[in-house]
Amino acid sequence: MKAIQVNEFGGPNVMKLEEVEDPVPSEGEAVVRVHPVETYVRNGAYAMLPELPYTPGADGAGVIESVGEGFRRFSVGDRVYLAGSTSGSYAERSLCTEAQIHPLPDPFSFSQGAAVGIPYATAYRALFQRAQARASESVLVHGATGGVGLASVQLARAHGMTGIGTGGTPEGRDLVAREGAHHVVDHCADGYPDEILELTKGRGVDLVLEMLANVNLGKDLTLLAFGGRVVVIGSRGTVEINPRDTMGREASIIGMHLLKASPEERSRAHAGIGAGLESGTLRPVVAKELPLEQAPRAHEEVLAAGALGKIVLLP
Ligand code: NAP
Repeated sequence: MKAIQVNEFGGPNVMKLEEVEDPVPSEGEAVVRVHPVETYVRNGAYAMLPELPYTPGADGAGVIESVGEGFRRFSVGDRVYLAGSTSGSYAERSLCTEAQIHPLPDPFSFSQGAAVGIPYATAYRALFQRAQARASESVLVHGATGGVGLASVQLARAHGMTGIGTGGTPEGRDLVAREGAHHVVDHCADGYPDEILELTKGRGVDLVLEMLANVNLGKDLTLLAFGGRVVVIGSRGTVEINPRDTMGREASIIGMHLLKASPEERSRAHAGIGAGLESGTLRPVVAKELPLEQAPRAHEEVLAAGALGKIVLLP
């Protein structure tokens, strides 16, 4: 089969499409015939690097092609999305354990399925497992136009929260409003924090889901209501904050990392996400589809400003 192989660490161009052996499922594993995969990989940031050569990719969607002994959760032919992969998902076939595969309801395309795994599990963990979000609370999704942001906006809406989403372009903000934010704000405009305070009638927001903490964390603390929480989802550097801003509000800054979720937490998150896909309250947004051999280009584009959902690769 064809798969992207990384033979050395480096920039996007180290990803090459090569012919490799088909995976064979062992006990408790299945092979998924992969249709599209998502472009979520952030190079350089991981403490644990895989052994070379390897096939990247944890997200994807497709159909179960073969199963190993003792594999019971799905049958050959079932439509699934991947939330993790043993052999890597940037390939025509991907080896997965039972816990890495989840049902993909019929109305969704495989491209949409490829946009579920990391973005929705991140949003779910940030909101419900780390910040203990509750119905009736308000949430600022700071960076709502990307995969994690749109998933957060949809989840917050479905759970009875008031969502304020930010985006850097008019198209992005329109998309965020269509996907369920009650209010949208331009995070590039001067004075946007005042707009957020006005929207909450001066009270501030209960939660901030922060995609770019190195730019926004100091400001976020001043936008919180009493008992407010900021969840740091993404950060690309350091930032200065005034700790006093947390005191009177009894506010919390909470870190989150998807890979730190326990197997039980992952399974709960995907049960919640699955229910949202079934009911249609969650609808993954695909910005663009590219052929698998263009993985290097996709990895460059995914870091550019002006996100409108996820970029997926078609094997
Ligand atoms: P993405 O699709 O690339 O989206 C990036 C988002 O950041 C866009 O909505 C972008 O908005 C927004 N942004 C740009 N400038 C901003 C600013 N000044 N203030 C607030 N937002 C700004 O990325 P993603 O896949 O949604 O992931 C979002 C972040 O979460 C990334 O940093 C990623 O590394 C991180 N992440 C963390 C975990 C974890 O386990 N902690 C898991 C998954 C992802 P515009 O383009 O509209 O300006």
